[in-house]
Amino acid sequence: MDRRNALLLLGLSLPAAQAPGQSIRTKAPDGKPARRTLIIGAGLSGLAAAQALQAAGEDVVVIEARGRIGGRIWTSTLWPETPLDLGASWIHGVRGNPLTKVADRIGAARWVTEYDRSVIYDASGQPLDETAGERLEKLDGQLWKRIRQAQDRDPDVSVRSLAESLAKNSEERRFVNFLLSGGIEQEYAGSADRLSAHWFDSAKEFRGDDALFAEGFHVITRHLAEGLRIETEQVVQEVHWQETPVRVVTRKSTFTGDRIVITLPLGVLQAGSVQFVPDLPATKRAAIAALGMGVLNKCYLRFPRVFWPDDVDWLEYVSEKHGEWTEWVSLARAAGKPVLLGFNAATQGRALEALPDRQIVADAMRTLRRIFGSGIPDPTGHQITRWASDPFARGSYSYTPIGATPRSRRELARPVDGRLFFAGEATDADYHATAHGAYLSGRRVAEEVIKS
Ligand SMILES: Cc1cc2nc3c(=O)[nH]c(=O)nc-3n(C[C@H](O)[C@H](O)[C@H](O)COP(=O)(O)OP(=O)(O)OC[C@H]3O[C@@H](n4cnc5c(N)ncnc54)[C@H](O)[C@@H]3O)c2cc1C
Repeated sequence: MDRRNALLLLGLSLPAAQAPGQSIRTKAPDGKPARRTLIIGAGLSGLAAAQALQAAGEDVVVIEARGRIGGRIWTSTLWPETPLDLGASWIHGVRGNPLTKVADRIGAARWVTEYDRSVIYDASGQPLDETAGERLEKLDGQLWKRIRQAQDRDPDVSVRSLAESLAKNSEERRFVNFLLSGGIEQEYAGSADRLSAHWFDSAKEFRGDDALFAEGFHVITRHLAEGLRIETEQVVQEVHWQETPVRVVTRKSTFTGDRIVITLPLGVLQAGSVQFVPDLPATKRAAIAALGMGVLNKCYLRFPRVFWPDDVDWLEYVSEKHGEWTEWVSLARAAGKPVLLGFNAATQGRALEALPDRQIVADAMRTLRRIFGSGIPDPTGHQITRWASDPFARGSYSYTPIGATPRSRRELARPVDGRLFFAGEATDADYHATAHGAYLSGRRVAEEVIKS
């Protein structure tokens, strides 16, 4: 398929007879030539920024490495009857969430999952009985108390270090691992060994339910991409930000403009695969180095029938080994599909993604058979993510390790010389690590560019 057809299929526009990188300038509403902004990355933050800038009459070109838009919003349609989100799935907290507004505007159908609809299984595969449940709850309370106390004390310590002396026997050790893995690492994606106790859970949240998109999260990114000029399959290698015009060099082309918006994931910035000429200021480099890029991977398994309780959304497992398949989401109740989604985060997520699919599925099935018995059917299909080894993500989302603070994110977001601007989930001090944080950072950077 040629590039133009691919873009048309995505619902994107490309000006007629325009070669990649070639300059065609539009006019601002006041008739003056519009200033051109080059936006690197067609993820949620880049698209939100591009939409807002274009609406304000600015000339915008979005430059994207992949052959698709969306970045860490990635809906797979491999099983056409069941679109699956391989990146973000949920609008976390639908009340007041800017993504709820976008979803309402386009009439996107959503399903709510509920944390109350959950069942916890112990290491032998039995549902936790009431007294074991109370012991787990008590440890959870103690861990949170220690975290809150540590937030008033210096020096900063890791979340794991606070949990160390909590467990007095092997059951409690399993419970503590379960709390750290299922409760903390699966949400924050960073290892409990590195997560800062000071800044743990300090981000803001929207209230209300968590909602999944019936047709996948890509309904949002597709909508935001409408009418934009997006250059896909353009892997950026160099950013010359002090020249006039500024220049972005990809493997295939060179783009010129007046300003550049960087929405590269933190992991890509840390890997140094894009060269800044001249180098970024030392404060910016320090912020990039200080923050952490976490890993959360997904393993979807499709079965011929539902063999697990069909009235629960969350299946949780107190494993023997830290982080081993501790959390599953069922798509049976919300979506009516015989599909389970297993998560693996942090160190366990990184280790697992190095294995071939066959081994990952076998590993997952060993846990499911321990819980539901040897008679359960083999999956009829699977889809597995590997976000840490993805060269255009290098992880799933950012977290705050010991040594970083919310100031690191503000430093990451700070514009340089009125020419170089920064957006992306990691730059949002309030809502980092989320889709709405990425969206809000895109809106924020558009305002900065317009005012510059
Ligand atoms: C597995 C997983 C589950 C998640 N679950 C949720 C959830 O349920 N709810 C929620 O709110 N959030 C969730 N998130 C987080 C959310 O997906 C992200 O915060 C958000 O999508 C990030 O958007 P962004 O624009 O900052 O970055 P990205 O979407 O990563 O956009 C950056 C873009 O830059 C491009 N790029 C990279 N390198 C280059 C280069 N050299 N040249 C050109 N382009 C380049 C990338 O391809 C990408 O398109 C999840 C993320 C993952 C991975």
